[in-house]
Amino acid sequence: MTTITANRSPLCQLMGMSPLIKNDRAAWLQGPPADCSVLPAERKNPCRLVLLGAPGVGKGTQAEILTARLGACHLSTGDLFRAASKRPDCEQSPAMKAATQYMRRGDLVPDSTVWEMVRERSKCIIHCGGFILDGFPRTLGQAQSLKELMEKETLSLSAVVNYELTVDEIVGRLSGRRTCGKCKSVFNVKERPPKFEGVCDRCGGRLLQREDDRPEAIAVRLEAYDRSTAPLIQFYKDLGLLLPILAKGSPEEIAARTIDRLNALAG
Ligand code: AMP
Repeated sequence: MTTITANRSPLCQLMGMSPLIKNDRAAWLQGPPADCSVLPAERKNPCRLVLLGAPGVGKGTQAEILTARLGACHLSTGDLFRAASKRPDCEQSPAMKAATQYMRRGDLVPDSTVWEMVRERSKCIIHCGGFILDGFPRTLGQAQSLKELMEKETLSLSAVVNYELTVDEIVGRLSGRRTCGKCKSVFNVKERPPKFEGVCDRCGGRLLQREDDRPEAIAVRLEAYDRSTAPLIQFYKDLGLLLPILAKGSPEEIAARTIDRLNALAG
């Protein structure tokens, strides 16, 4: 297995260093006027990454590991929608209530709603600590909106990592995935089972299956991915940003592979 070494490249200077305190991501998850408990440190060459890949390839797990290694912020639109859907009914806009229904079915939330949520959190994207976008963009329209926002701010992406896996492996990962209701740790009943069935190793919380990991929703999500998100591979290839990574092996192996490729890119 490849080992991760620190400070090898200007692109990811702080690789190998973990932030001392975990950011609660309040600015991203709650939106304005909320602020994060800990602001990511300013960096000279921050990592600005987009993670692509079908649902179930492990983007969320990779985003967590890479966030800890690179010091950037983990910006997941799925987490954002899940947090918003748990708010009291009276605090949810009609667009947010509709978005929750799309999510339950496994369908994509309309671009206008997604962009509204991301745009009002644009300070998370502009912040000089960098970011790891997970689950966004998911359509060409969203990719174009992100590109325009970044161009306006004279920022550019470091790379777009595309995690690759076969359809059978993806279905296996999605149907076996269990998430801790308390600390959100992710397990897989086959590949990464908890020590005790249904119980989180980390905090003892109950492990739950995400509503959109049920078989009917999985089929809808994979279809939505093929139709709307797969074209982003060519979009970012044409921009010279695409970095294909095989998503096989343990999460640590995949992260090490990713970091090695990022290092090679930075020279
Ligand atoms: P994820 O956790 O990234 O798999 O997202 C869970 C669900 O949230 C998706 O199946 C969609 O319903 C919705 N969602 C998250 N991000 C987006 C996006 N960028 N565009 C449209 N829908 C999204």
